Amino acid sequence: MRKKTGRILAACLGALLLFVCWLIWSPVRGVPVLEYHMTGDDALPDELPYIVPQADLAAQLDYLQAAGYTTITMRDYLAARQGEYTLPAKPVILTFDDGYEDNYTVLLPELEQRGMCATVYVVTNDVGLDRYLTWAQLQDMQRRGIEIGGHTADHLPLTTLAPEEQERQLRLSRQLMEMYGLQAVVSFSYPNGAYDEAIAQRVREAGYQTAVTGDAGLNQPDTNPYELQRINVAHPRFGLTEFRLRLLKGEIMTKLHWHQHKI
Ligand SMILES: [Zn+2]
Repeated sequence: MRKKTGRILAACLGALLLFVCWLIWSPVRGVPVLEYHMTGDDALPDELPYIVPQADLAAQLDYLQAAGYTTITMRDYLAARQGEYTLPAKPVILTFDDGYEDNYTVLLPELEQRGMCATVYVVTNDVGLDRYLTWAQLQDMQRRGIEIGGHTADHLPLTTLAPEEQERQLRLSRQLMEMYGLQAVVSFSYPNGAYDEAIAQRVREAGYQTAVTGDAGLNQPDTNPYELQRINVAHPRFGLTEFRLRLLKGEIMTKLHWHQHKI
């Protein structure tokens, strides 16, 4: 009896081991979208979780390059999904939410040194405030290959607003960005990652063609374009190892998502 129990236990452990090996090492297809906020060395204490210091950022960009990744913008990704652009062998999309000024002073030079690009999602009523990007900086970033996307006018979670106010937040910010000379804005990021199906529909009606969430995973051809998944890159406590683990977590989450939700 004890022998039989032992055999069953050994079989279970073997199966578990195989499952873990599959989770970690089996190849997974899909485009990783990394989610950043601030990039620099002068965060206020409550901003610390959202800042990746310059040295860590540089190490992460070097790692991506050495690992064979090519950065593309969200607009490129949209074009690829529409059959108008061929994705590089190993694409990655770097996204930066909220529109902090260090995206211009710290991030942009680090990207340019490496021939990389990114998508920056801007909260229009914060443009020009202390520590935030100005319209002139946004225009210059766009000229230099950075895509500017929308993140509403006031950064209120859309799930907390009445439908008319949701619509106003989406349309107002898009119109303002285009009024200030930014290219037709097609990419959107949900404030606080908060969305539902009705909100996704409103985002589409306001003219955006993709929207990123805070849900973890890689993006596959059948991932809903208004529910794109991201890998959050928070303030690193364990250097590059943590960054690599976050990329791995994105792959594992993708393998565990059996069903892709579709509108
Ligand atoms: Zn945000």
